[in-house]
Amino acid sequence: MTRLKLPESISGGLLLSYQCNAECRHCMYACSPKWKGWISEEDIKSVLSILAGRIKYSPFGPESVSLNHGLHFTGGEPFLNFELLSKAVTIARELNIPSTFVETNCYWCSDDKKTREKLLLLKESGLQGILISVNPFYLEYVPFERTERGIRHALEIFGKNVVVYQLEYYFRFKKLGIAGTISMEDYLKEQSDSLTENVEMFLMGRAVSRLKHLYPKHPADSFLGMPCNPPFLRNWHNHFDNYGNYMPGYCGGISLGSWRNMDKLHQKGIDLDSHPVLKFFVEQDFKGLLQFAKGFGFQEIKEGYISKCDICLDIRKYLLTKKEFDELKPKEFYSYL
Ligand code: SF4
Ligand code: SF4
Repeated sequence: MTRLKLPESISGGLLLSYQCNAECRHCMYACSPKWKGWISEEDIKSVLSILAGRIKYSPFGPESVSLNHGLHFTGGEPFLNFELLSKAVTIARELNIPSTFVETNCYWCSDDKKTREKLLLLKESGLQGILISVNPFYLEYVPFERTERGIRHALEIFGKNVVVYQLEYYFRFKKLGIAGTISMEDYLKEQSDSLTENVEMFLMGRAVSRLKHLYPKHPADSFLGMPCNPPFLRNWHNHFDNYGNYMPGYCGGISLGSWRNMDKLHQKGIDLDSHPVLKFFVEQDFKGLLQFAKGFGFQEIKEGYISKCDICLDIRKYLLTKKEFDELKPKEFYSYL
């Protein structure tokens, strides 16, 4: 039997839900208002107890935050269930999990009082920081004034522990004088190089279908020999979802197993023989994966692919039409792309 021991996770994100007020065209996890279901309080206690002691703090100290250290609460949009988010923060604090922060798109920052109250409550419950999303995709759903309000109050309450991701977009939106929401098409008329110049962009998840028309396409072959970047298996910035899935990095729709069995996954490893698709990812054998999929009747699309994750997702979607694969979860991810 081929087994693989997973590296111990030292940082990551807890997805409270895949539900979001927005349905961004670049969302790695295919989040949207269509998803239902949140993690239970009991599961929050379980997953955080498992992670406590493993999570390492930011290089700037346990009370500071940084993207690839500590633990973040994410989704979906965590503020859609503020009560649950507050409980999660409290539990993390009780378990002494360091460098905690929440990710948000600020849809809820509709007035100063409400914004301040919520941020203060989280801070008092033990949250150390916040990451505020700024990009042209969430901007189709959230008025920019709300983002500005969120940043303003967050800076007063969390000080240096505020991450604006991505700051480059924030400055562009300010320069353009954006108010309210704006469609991506209208925004790109003003800033045609906006998705490539000086910004980080992962062409994975929903982006490979909904943004495909904006990027050059290449045959599958040109991507198959490349390693996944960032690496598929790593000890930093993995994700744990409300269905129990332990997800590698940013790879939505792929499960390394259940976080409930994290000790076993680290000590005994995963049985790769019963997870054939996962085996190809672990071995970084995408040529093998393509052949495997062709055995089920898969055909590459003629127009080509914009990234390695594009072909990876095309194959996964196809395989799921043919057979159940325990490592391709949650299933809803593939329906809501
Ligand atoms: S990228 Fe963020 S804001 Fe946009 S749909 Fe996904 S979770 Fe929601
Ligand atoms: S190619 Fe697949 S496994 Fe590799 S990073 Fe992209 S989505 Fe993840």
